[in-house]
Parts: sequence; C-alpha cells; structure tokens
Amino acid sequence: MSTSITSGQSQSLQRTEAEARRALLSVEECDVTLDLSLDEATYSSLTRISFSSGAGETFLDLKPVAVASISLDGAPLDVATLDGGRLPLTLTAGAHELVVEATMRFRNDGEGLHRSVDPADGRHYVYGMSFMDAAPSIFACFDQPDLKAPYVFHVRAPRAWVVRANGAGTQVEPGVWEFERTAPLSTYFVTVVAGPYHLVSDAHDGIPLSLLARASLARELEDQAEDILTVTKQSFDEFHRLFGVRYAFGKYDQCFVPEFNAGAMENPGCVTFRDGFIFTSRATRGFAIQRATTIAHEMAHQWFGNLVTPAWWDDLWLNESFAEYLGNRVTADVTQYADTWVALSYARRQWGLVADQAPTTHPVAGNGAKDAVAALQDFDGISYAKGSAILKQLAATHGDDVFFGGVRDHFDLHRFGNATLADLLGSWQRAGAGDLTDFSAQWLTTAGPDRLAFDRSVGQILRTPPAAHPADRFHTFTAMSTDDGAHWEAHEVEVTSGRTEAPDLTGAAVILDPYDETWAVTVPDPATTEALVSLLPHTQDAHLRAGVWNSLRSGFHNALVDPALVIDIAVASLPLEDAEDGPRRVRAWLLGSVVPLAPAGSRARLNRAASSALGAQPLGSELQLSAFRMLISTAESADQLRPLLTAAPAGIDLDRSLRWRILGRLAELGAIDRTELHAAFDADPSADAKVALTGALCSLPDEAAKAWAWSVFTGETDVPNHEIEAAGEGLWRGGVPELTDAYVGRYFETLPSTASVRSGWVLADAAAAFFPAGAVSEETLALAEALLAGDTLTPPLQRRLSDCTDRLRRALAVKQAFPQV
Ligand SMILES: [Zn+2]
Repeated sequence: MSTSITSGQSQSLQRTEAEARRALLSVEECDVTLDLSLDEATYSSLTRISFSSGAGETFLDLKPVAVASISLDGAPLDVATLDGGRLPLTLTAGAHELVVEATMRFRNDGEGLHRSVDPADGRHYVYGMSFMDAAPSIFACFDQPDLKAPYVFHVRAPRAWVVRANGAGTQVEPGVWEFERTAPLSTYFVTVVAGPYHLVSDAHDGIPLSLLARASLARELEDQAEDILTVTKQSFDEFHRLFGVRYAFGKYDQCFVPEFNAGAMENPGCVTFRDGFIFTSRATRGFAIQRATTIAHEMAHQWFGNLVTPAWWDDLWLNESFAEYLGNRVTADVTQYADTWVALSYARRQWGLVADQAPTTHPVAGNGAKDAVAALQDFDGISYAKGSAILKQLAATHGDDVFFGGVRDHFDLHRFGNATLADLLGSWQRAGAGDLTDFSAQWLTTAGPDRLAFDRSVGQILRTPPAAHPADRFHTFTAMSTDDGAHWEAHEVEVTSGRTEAPDLTGAAVILDPYDETWAVTVPDPATTEALVSLLPHTQDAHLRAGVWNSLRSGFHNALVDPALVIDIAVASLPLEDAEDGPRRVRAWLLGSVVPLAPAGSRARLNRAASSALGAQPLGSELQLSAFRMLISTAESADQLRPLLTAAPAGIDLDRSLRWRILGRLAELGAIDRTELHAAFDADPSADAKVALTGALCSLPDEAAKAWAWSVFTGETDVPNHEIEAAGEGLWRGGVPELTDAYVGRYFETLPSTASVRSGWVLADAAAAFFPAGAVSEETLALAEALLAGDTLTPPLQRRLSDCTDRLRRALAVKQAFPQV
C-alpha cells in the first residue's frame, strides 16, 4: 500500500539552509534497498538513515511518486507533511534512525534513476545520476555535499541484469545483489547502474577494473577495451605518483550508459560515461583523445571531488578545473595521446573564451550565495577550460614540487571530508607558493578575459581588460610571426601594461599566444587576416594552426574579422584537421555561424574545396575523412549526395555515422521522405541512429515536420533527452524561413512555460537547442531582450537565454560590420 503524493514544485536548497542543517546533524550511515524488478515505470526505495543531531528543526529531502511510511526512531511521521520535496523534522538531541519506504519514478531526462530502452534489441537499462540535486528522487537523504556518510546498498533486479554501485557487490541469489559498505560519500555521487550490460573485467595494481556497456555494444566494447584499460592503468599510475595518496574507493567500474547528459560523472568506484564513447563508427584521433581525457578527468575527481569534496557548490569549479587540468596533463604526459594539448586547443579553448566574454560571465571561483539549481548553470567553459588554464599557469609558475606539495597537504588534511578554496590556498602557501592573494584576485575572483591585439602601426601589443570587470593582469606567452607561412619565428612576450612595445614583431602574419600559454582573447590585426589566406595552408605546426583558428574565431566573435575572409581562408586550407562534430568545433562554427553571414555562394565554394581536398588526401586518412564530412555538409543537391550512399569514394568506409550524415543532409534539402528515413533506421536500429532519425525528421522542409519538432519543445511529445536536442536543431535546419518564421515569436512566448514540463539539464539544453539562432535580425533580438527584461523566466532559463542572445547580438554585429552582397 502506498499513499499518493501531491507535492508542490521541489525547492532548491539554499546555502544558508545547508549550513544550518550541517551545524545541526551528522549522518552515520545510509542503508538503501531498491527493488527495480516491479514494473517499467516505478521502483521501490527503502532507506534507513542513522544520524545524530542536536535539538532543532530541519528537513529530509525526498522526491517520490508515493510514500508508504516514514518513521523516526520507530514512531510514524505524517507523510502528508511532505511538500516540495521536503519533509519537516523536529529533532531532539541524540542518535536517531529515519526509515522511509517510498515508490520512485524512473526518469528519462538523464537524472535520478534514468531508464532507457535500447532501440537495437528492446532491452532496458538503468543508471543513477544523483548530481546535482537528484539523489532524493532515488532515496531519502539529507542532500548536500558536506553531509557525507557510508552507504550500504541492497538491490533486487530482473535476473538477467548486472548491478553495480559505488561499493563492491555480489549477486547472493538470482536477481538479489548485496553491496559492501562504502567509504563516506556525498549524496551527489551515489549511484547504481543496472541492466543486461556487457562486462569486461581486469585489474591493475590491486584495483579491480570493469567496463560496462549495453549488450548491443558488446563487440565494440571488447574491441576498444584495450585502449580504454591502457589509458585507465597509465592514469592510475601517474595519479599515484603525482598525489602520493592511494585511490581510496576499492574497485573501479567505468560504465558507458545510454542517454547520458554530460560527458561523464565521477561517482566513486562507479564512473558513468555517455556511451557515445564506445565508438560504433570510425572515430577520429580527436574523438579518441576526448575519450582518454575524459577517463583521466573522472579519475582525477576520485581525489579532487570525491576524497576531498567542496563544502558547497560555489567551489565545484575547483573540482572541475582540477580534473580538467590534471586529466589533460596526465593524458598528454603518459598515454599514447601526446598531442592532447593540440586537440584541446580546438575542442575547449573557444568554449571557455566565449563564455568568459558573455554578459553572464562569472569569476572562476563563483559567488557563494547561490542555491543548488542555479549553480548547475556555472558548469560552463569558465569552470572547465578557463579554470584549467589558470591552474596550468599556477603549476608552471611555482613548479610541481610546490603545486603537488600543496595538493597532498590538502588531501591529508581533509581526507573523506569537505574543504574550500581558502583551505587549498592555505595548503599551497604551506608548500611554499607564497602569498596567492594577488593571483587569486586577478585570475580567480575577477570575471572576464583581457583582449590582446597587435597594433602594427606602432609596433605595440594592446591589452584591454573587460570594461565591466577591471583588472591588471600580466601575461607571458609566445607570439609567432611569418612572411611565408612555412617558417614562423617565435617571440617571448611579457605584457605588464596597457601597451607593450614589440619592435621585433614584424611579418606578414603575427599571431599572439597560439600555444594557449595565458588566458586572453587574442584577435588578429587586419593585415594578418588578409595574409592568412595564402599563409595558413603552408603552416606545418599543428598547435600553431589551432591557435590561428582560435584567433580568427575570436576576431569574428567580436565583429573584427570579415566572414568573407574566413571563407577564403577555409577554402584555401581544407581539409580541417579538427574533423570532429560538435558545436564548439571549427566545422560547426564555419557552417553554422560564418556561412550564413558570408557572401552568397560560400557553401558552394566550401563544397568545391572539400571535393578537391578529398581527392588530394591519402586514401583512408583522417584528413580524407574530414574532407568527406565537409563535402556532405555543404552538398546542395541530391545528385551529389545520393550516389555517395551506394558508392563512397575509395578509402571511405560508409559507416552508420556517415550514412546518417548523408540522410540528414538529404532531409534538410527535402530530397528524402519519411518512409525512406524510417526504412534506414529499421535496417540498422540503434540508439545513435534513433537520435539522428529524430533530427532528420524535424529538418524536413514541410509544415508537419516543424509542427512535430515544436510539440517536442512544448512537451506535448515526450522523447528522451538526446532526442529533444536533435529535434530543436532539426527545427531550424535547412533554412526555410517561410516554414520557420512563425516559430521565432512562438519560441519567446513559450519558453517560460517549458519550466513546468522539464527540469535540470534538459530544461536549459532544450532552451538552447530550440533558440532561433539563424534568425539574425533586430526583430529577433528585440523579442529576446524583452523576454530577458521581464520576470517570467526561471534562473536556468534566464541564464541560457542570455547566452544565446549574446551570440545573436554578436552575429548581428558581424552582419552590420560586414554587409555582404
Ligand atoms: Zn568533472
């Protein structure tokens, strides 16, 4: 028997509430029993929390669909008092036991216990994502990072399932799993992974290792296990060497799970990754590097985040900046991926710089007054890419002895506990870093990047701090100059004031900080941009080429570089060595941001250039693949695309990813119908094909397609998280204004109400995916600004709309600065 719950919108935990609860109580142990074998929509959750407290009022966090009973020290509590995800508690001083018996709902938005169905074989999979406030939708708890406790899990599941949790577990009878008591854990990284997963087991240095992926990915997992496990073992060895502190959580499972929102989550002993990291189509080196750095990043969190945890969400940047810097460094230093820093320059630099130039920029070390939900929006390029760049500078300035000396001190002092930025700065000072007050003020607690530009007319480097965030930052970096593109000269530069004399910086092209040695927006001077058309194709240094693209992108972002010139440079330089997909990558930027503002015919020019590049590259090479991908994305007729489906060029393996790339482009052009798209899916059903199918169906240029995409946005049609994003992107794709113009206004009318149909990650991600980025006009900008000026948006929507609007404003500035004929 269960009592139905009618509770209001759940409340986001305020910092002051967390501090009061922490002062009142401490948790001894959480014992959680889940029965996942009941039905496909819900599961039962029995939690026993042993804790001690002073006398006072507080609350328990719980987000169930129904509650059977709640008792405190054996006496029943009135479950009707549960409201907004909180159950009020009146406590006497002493030891207590709370027992909560509830029914929970499986979710499909990547939070709580997410349940999905694999389109390949109809099997069901479950994983837990407690971050950042979803734990109470799995088990009753005091949900805040500084109330750590050991967990004991008991899980009943369908007999064919494998079950994993943070602690080591065994199947004691068919379908019944018992797990060992864990080390103290914060609620946000408690997890359970369950389903008919395929398993690969190994061990290293006394640590049992497992890899899990869906059964339909078994062959790929087996094929790729060696690379994943090699990176895992090398990273463990290096972290043990750097930290001098053993990994503290027993076994180490890496679970590649379906429909995951982030790249991965560092749950101690049971890391979850998005299963796109098990490659089903040819993966480029950039993608393999992304997997390796993600493996090392999550492992770094086992110390930074899991062993020592921020007391409150405002210091979570420190987790991410640390994991980012050390994950990248370890991958570059000890795995086969020595070119990691180059790949990162393409993958991460603009993510951080764009976020840091937006009106929503925030200091790396965030402000402490926020609530838990709002803090999620700070998990951006600033917390990852900028924070990592600054820690890299700190390590370079003080040397490894001091840097890791401080880190070890930090681990020793706060093992299995919580700490703050001030604690870490104290540890570094004890290790010999001296007074870090100035460093912290300039780089960590002041928002925004300086802009660095070379003024050729006076031979000076100009440093401009952001007007809204004044600062006086020093920069040390290498500038590169060239006359012919083949030979570049390095110049060591120190910028300590607004104008720095640079008499030696001469040459047809001058690029500041191409090796990402400082954190600043660098923009090319006009002569350099012109010269790059002929010089970039001759440039051999891969990191320097990445730096050139970053400089061009920053210039374009600030309406200082003509889109026509960017197209000229791209046409001369194809194929791109950054062959990856994704919104932060060069190709997506060229096609999504530059082409729409460039002269008519730019797409066709890129297509012709891709075609010649395709023929000029070695068969089977990654550059050939990059050219082929560009060829597909820029094709403007079915006549060019259709033959590729049956006869790909020699050297190209027409795998699932490429096939769907062609089908998707045909859909945008209206050169394929629904029947053929569904038939292509039915012939090779898979999770990634399902997402591609949704995107293709929404990008068909007809009214029904747009109306269906729209119903996903409003929540009328319920699809899992990844398909929501694909639908949003599909809605606008293909550029048929007469079909989509009506949705521009409707987007701004509807956006506020989406907060009542979804939450967390997907709420903000859907807002971005459905934003009319292609409708670059004063009218769209006015609609966006009017909505932002009102008070109808929840904080996550306000934040995400501000960022989208900033990019729209900048696109409009480019359009006005460089009108094209
Ligand atoms: Zn992380």
